[in-house]
Amino acid sequence: MAELITGLDAGQVRERVVEARERIEAAAQRAGRDPADVELLAAVKYVALDELGTLADAGLTLLGENRAQELVAKAEAYPGAFTWDFIGHLQSRKVKDIAPYVRYIHSVASDSVLAQLERHAPQREDFGVLVEVNVAGEASKSGIAPAELASFVARCPVPVVGLMTMPPAVAAPEENRPHFATLRELATAHGLHHLSMGTSQDYEVAVEEGATIVRLGSTLYR
Ligand SMILES: *Cc1c(COP(=O)(O)O)cnc(C)c1O
Repeated sequence: MAELITGLDAGQVRERVVEARERIEAAAQRAGRDPADVELLAAVKYVALDELGTLADAGLTLLGENRAQELVAKAEAYPGAFTWDFIGHLQSRKVKDIAPYVRYIHSVASDSVLAQLERHAPQREDFGVLVEVNVAGEASKSGIAPAELASFVARCPVPVVGLMTMPPAVAAPEENRPHFATLRELATAHGLHHLSMGTSQDYEVAVEEGATIVRLGSTLYR
């Protein structure tokens, strides 16, 4: 794992956030979309727990964590400060640990997780899941194959609010445009609202293709 990020400066992070929001706004406008329909989620897997106050000072309100234990520790350390989404690979036995803290789980992609959701899903109105889709068909990645999506969504015991994808690392953001477009078409076909797609490398393209949640890490902390 990469080294934890420490020593962040709220003013600098705020500048990065403002710039990212401007880029999101411009991308949304190019696509004839309302920029207000795009949420900026800050991925904090590499950010030390003590730094999260700085992120709050910088104006970030929606955070995403990849590891269950970290999510619980960070959410408990800053009660009420943030909305938390889980964005990482989820082991089914961790569902019950994160359930009390999360709004959305972006990365639901196995029947064992569905079984745990059936038992442990919070009854809160705002709780929902996104199904992770392996749009590029990469053997090394988790995610439901597009052809399996309809039956998987039908089996999910909790509200499915959208789809998420983690496309390949690419040299040029444009290379992921077809994957983002595929995810949007799948969401439309299944009547799902949210599209969690786009990271630091390609979020502007993702917004042009319909992202409603972009997940930004490195570009905010550089
Ligand atoms: C780390 C991470 C991100 C952010 O990636 P950056 O390249 O740092 O912007 C987004 N989504 C997921 C699932 C991640 O693990």
